[in-house]
Amino acid sequence: MPSDQASSTTVADATTMPHEAPKEQTKFEREKHIQYLKRSLQMLPQPYTSMDTHRMTFGMFALGGLELLGVLEESVSEANRQAWIEWVYSQQRVPDSQGSPGMAAIRFIQECQTYDHGFSQSPQQESHGGSTYCAVATLGLIGGEALWDQKTMTRNVQDGEDEAAFELRKSRAGFLDKEGTRKWCLQRQTTGFQGRINKKTDTCYSFWIGASLAIMDSFDLVDFDCNRGFLLETQHKVFGGFGKWVDTYPDALHSYMGIASLSFMSEPGILPLDPLLNISKRMQERIYTQTVFWKDSR
Ligand SMILES: [Zn+2]
Repeated sequence: MPSDQASSTTVADATTMPHEAPKEQTKFEREKHIQYLKRSLQMLPQPYTSMDTHRMTFGMFALGGLELLGVLEESVSEANRQAWIEWVYSQQRVPDSQGSPGMAAIRFIQECQTYDHGFSQSPQQESHGGSTYCAVATLGLIGGEALWDQKTMTRNVQDGEDEAAFELRKSRAGFLDKEGTRKWCLQRQTTGFQGRINKKTDTCYSFWIGASLAIMDSFDLVDFDCNRGFLLETQHKVFGGFGKWVDTYPDALHSYMGIASLSFMSEPGILPLDPLLNISKRMQERIYTQTVFWKDSR
């Protein structure tokens, strides 16, 4: 549930629009998607040749999709999983310079929030669903609530925060308009979601925008039936996988994001997804409890 329920209700009222109901609710083709993602790990058809420099991305979408479908271990052998791990580590480049990338990132994100409260890819550009997700998730990972403006803050009564402590916390609050960002995201829903104003509805934005709303505790304001109906229509009925639009060729990115977005709506056969890290919640738990990266920061 949203932490600031009253204002969320206002947003929902302000952005209610007549969503066109999907023509038919086809079924979620889980088995075909598993086959499609397994094939994507082995080989890609000729039209993907120009994507050769994006192997890491393809690997993430295919492996991540199989994980969300709960079949990663049974789909990729132990030896192949180990080979993937070593290949991913072999691609790492350690940065030369020191400094505070966190503060630089916050400044950059601040400059990218536009007049309509979405986020653009660089300052002075148009708000975009993908960059809005990157901004919202980055804020969630490095700064949390403190970076959003004080209008959206509420006193943390459950944790015993008194009025004075709340006023102090408010005085340190950030500069980004969360209510505006939430509204911009909700206004992107047509049936599924568009990534920019007046652009075509596209499978991937059900993830980019949906995950942004999930991070802001507002995914419950999405029209689930319309979103699900659109996503199921973009499945490829023969090959499996999802295309960006209805009746388009499937690809790894849209397949992963279609599955990930359905996860937010608790589609049977898909594991719950953590929207901040964009991995399954069971993997998130494994990272938090079984790796060294997070032990000192939590
Ligand atoms: Zn797309």
